[in-house]
Amino acid sequence: MKRIGILTSGGDAPGMNAAIRSVVRSSIYHDIEIYGIYYGYQGLIEGHIKRLHIGSVGDIIQRGGTMLYSSRSEEFKTGEGQAKAIEQLKKHDIEGLVVIGGDGSFRGAQKLTEKGFPCIGIPGTIDNDIPGTDNTIGFDTALNTVIQAVDKIRDTATSHERIYVIEVMGRDAGDLALWAGVAAGAESILIPEFPHDLEEVTEKIKRGHERGKRHSIIMVAEGVGSANDIANHIKDDLQVETRVTVLGHTQRGGSPTAFDRVLAGRLGAYAVDLLKGGQQGRMVGVQNNQLVHHDIIEALKLKNEISDDLYNLSNQLSI
Ligand code: ADP
Repeated sequence: MKRIGILTSGGDAPGMNAAIRSVVRSSIYHDIEIYGIYYGYQGLIEGHIKRLHIGSVGDIIQRGGTMLYSSRSEEFKTGEGQAKAIEQLKKHDIEGLVVIGGDGSFRGAQKLTEKGFPCIGIPGTIDNDIPGTDNTIGFDTALNTVIQAVDKIRDTATSHERIYVIEVMGRDAGDLALWAGVAAGAESILIPEFPHDLEEVTEKIKRGHERGKRHSIIMVAEGVGSANDIANHIKDDLQVETRVTVLGHTQRGGSPTAFDRVLAGRLGAYAVDLLKGGQQGRMVGVQNNQLVHHDIIEALKLKNEISDDLYNLSNQLSI
């Protein structure tokens, strides 16, 4: 393999830049030329492709977002769009592609592999919803962003004796809400993977109130539904003041944590190793602190595992 390409696709995540840096520098280390493809799959179709050098990725390890930018491309989902993408790659004599993104981006990478163009996927999303890796790049940073926000909200919640319902991202996955809830000491955590009973939530608030607690934090994963509806239910049931905070896209930005930077560094270098070794249609990950790779389609067929232990612990610690 003499020349490879790299792109970022779908929702951005902190640490993507650190992964790009790792792929670029590892390629150059192995005497492979590396080309950056800008604006995700759409940019690939349109030929936004540029050679990258050691210095091209200087001073980005600490930055959120992605220097290659991202996009969502409907055209790429079609056979015609994929053919155009491969044409562009061939035009630039690129022989393999590293895709950093979520499950949608992985499905795109798989389509290119099936059409004869070798791809490797690196999981980059704050949702932590990709099976086959314990952590996705960006999850740890988003988690830290959420708990910083919750710590601040807790100050004002205590001062004013209010119930705060906080909605966090995660699409259909509850990882971010669960981990943030445990780390920030939330009273209740509502996530799509476990059924919830709003009566239990209000009962817990009542119990806390009776023993002099001045606030409650209810963590809601976006996949569960509207935080506003839940807050209204609590308000009507208990006749208490509730406030809703939707943390939204603040969760996607910011400087990556040390954990995400190191994870990105490891996965980026590993992706290059795999392409160099003739692998294709694989996703890379870290499980039990070991680098692993899996068939993309087989991995995506698996259910994203959420920790039962952590969920039970959260209930145990918020009695
Ligand atoms: P993420 O990668 O964060 O899950 P998306 O689901 O939006 O984000 O996917 C990013 C892009 O990947 C899409 O805009 C599309 O171009 C491509 N993609 C998604 N699903 C497929 C698919 N089944 N086949 C081909 N390309 C896909």
